[in-house]
Amino acid sequence: MKKNILIVGTGITGLSAGLNLIRNGLNVTLIDRVDVGNENQTSYGNAGLLAASSIIPLSSPGLLRNLPFYLLSKSSPLFLKYSYLPKLLPWAIPFFRNSSKSNFNYIIKNLHQLTYDTVEQHLALSKSTEASKFINKGKISMIFRDQSEILKSKSDLEIRKKYKFNFKKLNDQEFTKKYSYLSNNYKSGIEFYDHGWISSPQKYLQVLKKEFIKLGGIFKKDEVTSISDKAVTLKDGKIISANKIIVCSGIWSKRLLKTINHKVNIEAERGFHIVLKKVNFLPPNPLMIINKKIAITPMEDTLRFAGIVDFSGVDAPTNKSRYDYIRSLIKNIIPSLSWKEEGFWMGQRPSTSDSLPVLGRSQSLENVYFAFGGQHVGLTIGPKLGKLVSDLILNKKININLEPYLQRRFNN
Ligand SMILES: Cc1cc2nc3c(=O)[nH]c(=O)nc-3n(C[C@H](O)[C@H](O)[C@H](O)COP(=O)(O)OP(=O)(O)OC[C@H]3O[C@@H](n4cnc5c(N)ncnc54)[C@H](O)[C@@H]3O)c2cc1C
Repeated sequence: MKKNILIVGTGITGLSAGLNLIRNGLNVTLIDRVDVGNENQTSYGNAGLLAASSIIPLSSPGLLRNLPFYLLSKSSPLFLKYSYLPKLLPWAIPFFRNSSKSNFNYIIKNLHQLTYDTVEQHLALSKSTEASKFINKGKISMIFRDQSEILKSKSDLEIRKKYKFNFKKLNDQEFTKKYSYLSNNYKSGIEFYDHGWISSPQKYLQVLKKEFIKLGGIFKKDEVTSISDKAVTLKDGKIISANKIIVCSGIWSKRLLKTINHKVNIEAERGFHIVLKKVNFLPPNPLMIINKKIAITPMEDTLRFAGIVDFSGVDAPTNKSRYDYIRSLIKNIIPSLSWKEEGFWMGQRPSTSDSLPVLGRSQSLENVYFAFGGQHVGLTIGPKLGKLVSDLILNKKININLEPYLQRRFNN
């Protein structure tokens, strides 16, 4: 008899797991409290980057040195609600500890094996569907104020070189020619080739869901309040049984893990976007503005400015001043840009204290699996997390070591 699989969460990770399993002939039900492509999903409003080379965690060795600037400067892209600090500390302390050289290198190695082939993973996920038309292969440009700012990133660039990413530092002439639309605030750049971006994360997810349904999958709109080894309980108390359960619930996974006494140290790194509509200009590929940690992505006929790290807790309401911050950057980056409409969004990056996702089977419940915690690169690695967790269920050979991602690392 075919196994019944229940997946909680239909962001990029849950959808990927669902599609892989149904393509392998299993019965799969996806449950989510919102529709696929709803703006409450973190997968909806991200910058869309398939950031293969984003393997350097925020907890880098220089972080403590730069922390006063990040916390005190008005122009910093980091925001902290000070009354939230006591709740943040149990996450922040191990997070800072992970900036030691050895932990830093360990994280990079284990992020790299999830990110490096992201474009291929997305192409495999979307194969024979209309979703593939939203995948753009190309370069991502890192934009710096000047050469001295590039020099400060020297060690990060060396790491990327070591991991064989294909990039080129532009000379002044090349930069001026290609990026003449940028303001004088930005004078240097590095282009990362063989990357990609999704030109509408929302439509991409919706087409993948359509394919899942076409192949016989079931989507149930409901909220799961608890899980057990072979069942989930819904908000109205109804119980749904399954042979296997996968938790792909993004930042909200922590609440579900609590119901089975499984610990995870994960925090909402809130991020925001402003999308500009009816713009007079679109850059040909995404830009990463390094000093502001803002990504600017051409998405169909709109331009999305996404970024900011805000620690205020998962349930805090949105904060208008964060949009003002992003809006204040736009003309400082592309002075000639004009637009007629704006859209706003806030989302929650699911970030563990060691910047690695939670992936694999529960150590005590044989039929419960986890795939969440993609932090800043959750769209990039979502298809791979989904593929790996489904391969576990399908008893397929897995050619990477899952140990660094197991939930049990949070037990002590
Ligand atoms: C501003 C910003 C920019 C970003 N840019 C990028 C980028 O360029 N590239 C990149 O790779 N990543 C980026 N990210 C990160 C990325 O968006 C996330 O890591 C990723 O979307 C997480 O996907 P997910 O499927 O794990 O979670 P989600 O998309 O959040 O999906 C989780 C789902 O679980 C459902 N759920 C939760 N609990 C329950 C429950 N109890 N019952 C029923 N349903 C439940 C939720 O409704 C939700 O639909 C960005 C994030 C932000 C905020």
